[in-house]
Amino acid sequence: MSASNCDILIQGGGPVGLACAAWVLQKFPDAKLTLIDRNPEKDDDLVNADSRGIALSHGSKLLLDTIQAWPKESAQIYRVHVSQAGRFGRALMTREELNQDALGHIIRYRDIHITLRQALRAIQAKSNNFVWKHISKDIEEASLQAKCTVHAEGGLFKTQDWIESGRDYGQSALVGLVEVENAAPHHAWERFTAEGPLAVLPSHYGSNVLNLVWCGSPESSQYRLQLSDQDFLIALQKVFGSRIGRFLKIQDRRLYELGLNYRKEIAKDNEVWIGNAAQTLHPVAGQGLNLGLRDAFLLAEKLVGVFSGLAEDQSPADIQNALQSYAQSRKVDRTTTIGLTDFMARVFTSNLAPVALARGLALSALQWLPPVKTALARQMMFGRR
Ligand SMILES: Cc1cc2nc3c(=O)[nH]c(=O)nc-3n(C[C@H](O)[C@H](O)[C@H](O)COP(=O)(O)OP(=O)(O)OC[C@H]3O[C@@H](n4cnc5c(N)ncnc54)[C@H](O)[C@@H]3O)c2cc1C
Repeated sequence: MSASNCDILIQGGGPVGLACAAWVLQKFPDAKLTLIDRNPEKDDDLVNADSRGIALSHGSKLLLDTIQAWPKESAQIYRVHVSQAGRFGRALMTREELNQDALGHIIRYRDIHITLRQALRAIQAKSNNFVWKHISKDIEEASLQAKCTVHAEGGLFKTQDWIESGRDYGQSALVGLVEVENAAPHHAWERFTAEGPLAVLPSHYGSNVLNLVWCGSPESSQYRLQLSDQDFLIALQKVFGSRIGRFLKIQDRRLYELGLNYRKEIAKDNEVWIGNAAQTLHPVAGQGLNLGLRDAFLLAEKLVGVFSGLAEDQSPADIQNALQSYAQSRKVDRTTTIGLTDFMARVFTSNLAPVALARGLALSALQWLPPVKTALARQMMFGRR
């Protein structure tokens, strides 16, 4: 099977592109599918890659379990404590209230990435028409022809070569692994500070080693990145307070610029966009990859529907209809998740006194109105399908 003549071309071997390929091939092993991957072929070359902790929902776990792509190393969240620095209002969510084994799971990006590559390799063994092409960044892909092109090129805010609708929050996220004195196991903290949300999340290294995501203005985040470890820990302690004891150690600090960038149209002619290639979100609600995996799963179903029929020659109209039907089916989930994330990113970072008051009231309302809290948590855990 040549890569220049395929039915489905997936561009992007990140988690979303890999998952989409795996779901198509699992349901339809004969699919003429080509995956263009700019990452190195060997997993060993990725072990030092992006180690940031990603919160995956229970819904994502159920999806990844279907292709045996759930990483071995993960940390479970049983309780989430939400508060705002220097102001009233707090909310606590527990797994018991929601009747779930866990509220979410924290996994390193590279572990999700590598596990999905391994899952796809296992499926590849039974898929004769599947071509997995590893190419370097400088090679042109224009010669590849496909009946349908899936864009899964992903990317981070401000690194993407397309800008459509969205918002620059004027924030960066500083991530790292922080060691503390006395953290309760399986507990996550999200604290809204004057500059942005600060999250401290469990890791699989043990209850006293936590994933830090500290959002702030680009200037102060850059400044914090360059502080000595000692000064960084003092600054962090000052903002976070003492509820998990002293911060003892910080490792692997990295910076990401944050913003919202989303396409209004996610399907056009024979092209379709999924994951971060369709929408790039602020991490405040931990929804980007969760949403992208739901994109990939539902698109795979539509692609299998159109390409696994008996007819060899799907008309361009059949393909366009399938992609339009996909776009339609993603409308509610996308709009809700993008809207909720944008709302949280803006409301929880405003310093205006009335907004801060409303925020405190909202957190209190969340605490005292269990149905609202449950509805919000369910949206975060499962999205809308
Ligand atoms: C600080 C931070 C914290 C986050 N936390 C969370 C969280 O807690 N929960 C959550 O759900 N999400 C979170 N996210 C979002 C999450 O990281 C993304 O939504 C997710 O990585 C998107 O996956 P993707 O496969 O679409 O894109 P990517 O992860 O960007 O992967 C795309 C891949 O495509 C490759 N590529 C690019 N161009 C081409 C091309 N032309 N041809 C072939 N390949 C190409 C790239 O090399 C890359 O490997 C966070 C993001 C940030 C920045």
